Amino acid sequence: NLIATSKLTAIVGTGVSGLSAARFLQRKQEKFVLLDTREAPPSREQIVREFPDVHCEFGTWDTDLLTGAEEIIVSPGIALSCDELKPARDAGVPLVGDIEVFVRHARAPIVAITGSNGKSTVTTLVGEMAKAAGKKVAVGGNLGTPALDLLDDAIELYVLELSSFQLESVSKLGAQVACILNISPDHMDRYSGMPAYHAAKQRIYYGARHVVVNREDPLTRPPLADDVAMSTFGGSADFKNIGTFTRGGELQLSMDLIPLLPVSELKIKGKHNIANAQAAVAIARAADLPMEAVLQTLREFPGLPHRCQWVAERHGVDYIDDSKGTNVGATLAAIEGMAPESGRLVVLLGGVAKDRDFSSLVPALQANARAIVLYGQDAQVLAESLQAFSFIERAQNLQQAVDKASRLAEPGDAILLSPACASFDEFENYIERGRTFARYAEEVANV
Ligand code: ADP
Repeated sequence: NLIATSKLTAIVGTGVSGLSAARFLQRKQEKFVLLDTREAPPSREQIVREFPDVHCEFGTWDTDLLTGAEEIIVSPGIALSCDELKPARDAGVPLVGDIEVFVRHARAPIVAITGSNGKSTVTTLVGEMAKAAGKKVAVGGNLGTPALDLLDDAIELYVLELSSFQLESVSKLGAQVACILNISPDHMDRYSGMPAYHAAKQRIYYGARHVVVNREDPLTRPPLADDVAMSTFGGSADFKNIGTFTRGGELQLSMDLIPLLPVSELKIKGKHNIANAQAAVAIARAADLPMEAVLQTLREFPGLPHRCQWVAERHGVDYIDDSKGTNVGATLAAIEGMAPESGRLVVLLGGVAKDRDFSSLVPALQANARAIVLYGQDAQVLAESLQAFSFIERAQNLQQAVDKASRLAEPGDAILLSPACASFDEFENYIERGRTFARYAEEVANV
């Protein structure tokens, strides 16, 4: 039988990254089993199609499958410390993630990017910069294509977005360039607290040849980096690094105190996107990409959908979709970056809270918002920590929230959906939430 006679890998979790691990092992003609804690994982039909001969167990698993495995590839959605994996941990079976497997097989340098917010934006920017420079580049990881699906010996550079969950299960990444963009509370429903989350993010620096850190966020600094090349970004100009300063009456991105590009030429807006642009330049420079390609990309990049994206204008009111703003740090950046003028935002907040404390939004709301509308499962949690803000409305769901917001907003205002929460109470994911918001904005126009 399969278990007794041959070496075996168990793949735990049949989401996007689990299935990419399965495809990878299938290409290598290695034996594996697919396990999922859910009785009926959404991918089961795809599994039957793609892996008709592979043994699967859904719901509860035969413990022998775990303890008899040579290695277990655990999906980022599953905590390494969970009860289901205890028999494997007790038996000393190595638990790894798809990124660990990727690192073993990647033949080209890796640029690795993490952070609480801005990962997808900066990863995409750096990928575009490498493309503009004519490199054969593969971009993915936590965003887009899973890492193992990118593996190809013709690739010259990998640019990976990595989540804290993915970093937990990688031992030594050995990136050519590694960057933590920023650290603010996120996923506090899965971590014991900020130190554990911080420690997971910091794993990105293990074995890196060049680290890129944010001067404005000390938590992004590696604890011991004396023998590793380091570049910085964030805030004002720096004589050996990337920053911003005012020259000729204009705010400019700067490199080593030399102006690079007026910030007004960036298509992505808001203070957080200036930081993202700076980070991308610092990373691209550390990866030896030519500055010409870097600047061309910065001028052209329109931003990603659902990240502070303008979606409609109705009766003089702009509708801005920041559905990807799923934690306090992201929403703070959106509120500070997107107000047309002080007091001219109506902000929609709600969904499933990953964190219980939203009070750090209050000063930014007081400065920028006319009103907020709270909706969805955790509206009450939000209301409790935001009570210092004076104008709070409540709604059952997003549709009602848009409706209320459109009545509160005055011409010249903007309505910002930046929920600071996950979307799962009402939507499949942040993409569906953002699209639905845009549709409601259209409907409001026709009333
Ligand atoms: P991630 O991939 O880390 O979720 P994204 O680039 O998709 O990051 O941006 C998600 C949201 O985070 C944006 O819509 C914006 O609200 C916020 N954001 C983006 N960049 C930053 C930044 N540098 N600092 C703080 N918030 C940011």
